[in-house]
Amino acid sequence: MTSHSPHLGILGGGQLAQMLALAALPLGVRVTVLEPDILAPARLCATHLHAPYTDAAGLDALAGCDAVTLEFENVPVEVLTALEGRVPVRPERALLERSKHRAHEKEALQEAGARTAPFVVIETEANLDGALERVGRQGILKTSELGYDGKGQSRVSDAAGLQSAWDELGRVPCVLEGLVQFEREVSLAVARGPDGALAFGPLIENVHRNGILRTSLFLEGDPHEAQAREIAGQVAGAWGLEGLMTLEFFGLPEGELLVNEVAPRVHNSGHLTQDGGGVSQFDAQVRAVLGLPLADWRPLHPCAMVNIIGAEGKTPDWAGIDALPGTRLHLYHKAWRAGRKLGHVNLVTADEQTLRARLSQLETLIP
Ligand code: AMP
Repeated sequence: MTSHSPHLGILGGGQLAQMLALAALPLGVRVTVLEPDILAPARLCATHLHAPYTDAAGLDALAGCDAVTLEFENVPVEVLTALEGRVPVRPERALLERSKHRAHEKEALQEAGARTAPFVVIETEANLDGALERVGRQGILKTSELGYDGKGQSRVSDAAGLQSAWDELGRVPCVLEGLVQFEREVSLAVARGPDGALAFGPLIENVHRNGILRTSLFLEGDPHEAQAREIAGQVAGAWGLEGLMTLEFFGLPEGELLVNEVAPRVHNSGHLTQDGGGVSQFDAQVRAVLGLPLADWRPLHPCAMVNIIGAEGKTPDWAGIDALPGTRLHLYHKAWRAGRKLGHVNLVTADEQTLRARLSQLETLIP
């Protein structure tokens, strides 16, 4: 590549930062993470600045990197302001501010020409009036900020339920979304370099359990891929993306895709790209952020992923996973806690039929 060894700074030191760092090393890229948790997963494979995100010395160190990216969008805005003008932060502040606020994100998606579920912004008691009727009688109330993996959400189907759901969420700014009768959930990542060149990840099908991603699947020739790429490219261009972002979609029975939400980074659904052959989503984010050469990254083989999530009184059948051909285990070095993402298993096979059969087996091995 170049004689200069690039240095990437990452805000956040969780498993996504860990896997970004693991992908960066063979590209000749050094990684430093700023992360307040002393036991953060990325500490094992990157220089760990153990300090709050707002720490001046920590931010000075990140400002000395070639570029800064993030694995976690809920960093305080003042952090991004403090880095502005000192080092390229990719994606940049306006895009990050938008993607950590559901209402702003949905408005910006619609402005960019993408369709979303019907929604009403709830900020005051008065906004509750008639809101459910406007989104179609059944809805999901979501906090505008700090919600993830189904947290900060509540399903509602009448006015009294909406009122109590808003009370329970602490009467904070929320978005009421219409309940979408989707046929499938899919996701697709897009990267855009500082020169504006676009590259895309594969179309991935996702299955959630209790609001948390359980399984992702990649098969060649997905009928939704062209539409998802078009929407992702359009949004990336309109928002001036530099770096990588992942769009989650609802696939309607008529074939149309609605954007559910956007993560300004690699995404749990893209972990299967680590083992499907070729470039992974992690390589792609590192490359896009540092302005290194980048092309579409799509697995060369059918592949899938199953998340390992802490479950009360149950552990995965580790020996069974190892004995199943084509599996590869990825653990995050995190302390066990119920409901916490602790790792994932990728599964690769030569053909679709084998993938589906082995995936069913794999799912029985992971509670
Ligand atoms: P989110 O945190 O918005 O990604 O939501 C987590 C999961 O809840 C999604 O992946 C869907 O399975 C489900 N969900 C969220 N919003 C809606 C909606 N408007 N209609 C139907 N299901 C939804």
